[in-house]
Amino acid sequence: MLSDRLSLIKPSPTIAVTTKAAELKAAGHDVIGLGAGEPDFDTPEHIKQAATEAMAANKTRYTAVDGIPELKQAICDKFQRDNNITCTPSMVTVGTGGKQVLYNALMATVNPGDEVIIPAPYWVSYPDMVLLAEGKPVFVDCPQSVGFKLTAEALEAAITPKTKWLILNSPSNPTGAGYSADDLKALAEVLRRHNHVYILVDDMYEYLTYGDFKFATLAEVAPDLQERTLTSNGVSKSYCMTGWRIGFATGPQPLIKAIAKIQSQSTSNPNSVAQYAALAALNGPLDFIAENLKAFDRRRQLVVNGLNAIDGISCAMPDGAFYVYPNIAGIIGRKTPDGTVLSDDSAFVSYLLEAAGVACVQGVAFGLSPHFRISYATSDANLQTSLDRISEAVSKLS
Ligand code: GLU
Repeated sequence: MLSDRLSLIKPSPTIAVTTKAAELKAAGHDVIGLGAGEPDFDTPEHIKQAATEAMAANKTRYTAVDGIPELKQAICDKFQRDNNITCTPSMVTVGTGGKQVLYNALMATVNPGDEVIIPAPYWVSYPDMVLLAEGKPVFVDCPQSVGFKLTAEALEAAITPKTKWLILNSPSNPTGAGYSADDLKALAEVLRRHNHVYILVDDMYEYLTYGDFKFATLAEVAPDLQERTLTSNGVSKSYCMTGWRIGFATGPQPLIKAIAKIQSQSTSNPNSVAQYAALAALNGPLDFIAENLKAFDRRRQLVVNGLNAIDGISCAMPDGAFYVYPNIAGIIGRKTPDGTVLSDDSAFVSYLLEAAGVACVQGVAFGLSPHFRISYATSDANLQTSLDRISEAVSKLS
């Protein structure tokens, strides 16, 4: 009954871990979920209020397939204000989460055998989306030693005549590594030499950056590449709106139209009420984000320091997002009290869930081992307890 296509992909591992943690909790187990990549803060009141008002005003019917005009204009204003990217509403698309925008973009452009360069570690869904579009993911290893970032040399070496897209995500899920303006300029130099390559930019964590890191995006530092760039973003992470499912992007008009064509034959418009909520978010105050950032930054330090104090774990300090991606090379090969050898990061993550009641995501899901991902978008108390439990579980290994 099932298609051959289905066998190309697996269920999203981040969602699988989140679901498993929720099930264990519901069954009465003491599990702390550090798998889900979503803020623990509530959607701000003014945004929920806008949704309530939209419902009261019966803004509950179909809208334009790829977004209401007011929201598209607010998105243009956002790109101009934050990123110095000039666009018109006809160069903007709105979808059901950033995920749908990326999926549609790939479905609209990738021919069988087209190559898509994906720096690893990567967000779990990029390769599977490429496979569904019958493309070929081309992974480029970007280990901790190069700051988990794609270098100009590595990009140059990965490009072939079949390359359709390069996917760039900064700050990165799962590492939190951020590309500086200079990093992006170096990549732009390479991209200029290969004008058949399009660039799919995922800026979902734009507002979530820490310390001295200054966010930049490709179309901002290389305006000449704007016509080959799809710059995507969304309200999920910055505005604590994961469940509302609103993502957006700007790019060349033919691509934006193609994305709408696919959307018209699958989901139609993103949820109408959620679009009005997103409109209030984009046009509204940003001060609450600064408050949330203080908490995220405190947790970032807590988690990085706590992990580095554990024998066998080495954790880089992320520039942004709310993930850390610790290296566990020092743990691989150790034995659990019941004699199981922890031969890879999946085994380690299973051990943490069983022995410590802490749910994390295995590095292999993100394409770079031996690592695991922790989302620190949860309370300080949960994080401290998790660190204590991980430390104790690791101390029991021999
Ligand atoms: N993007 C989040 C994560 O990486 C949410 C789950 C998903 O869509 O992957 O955890």
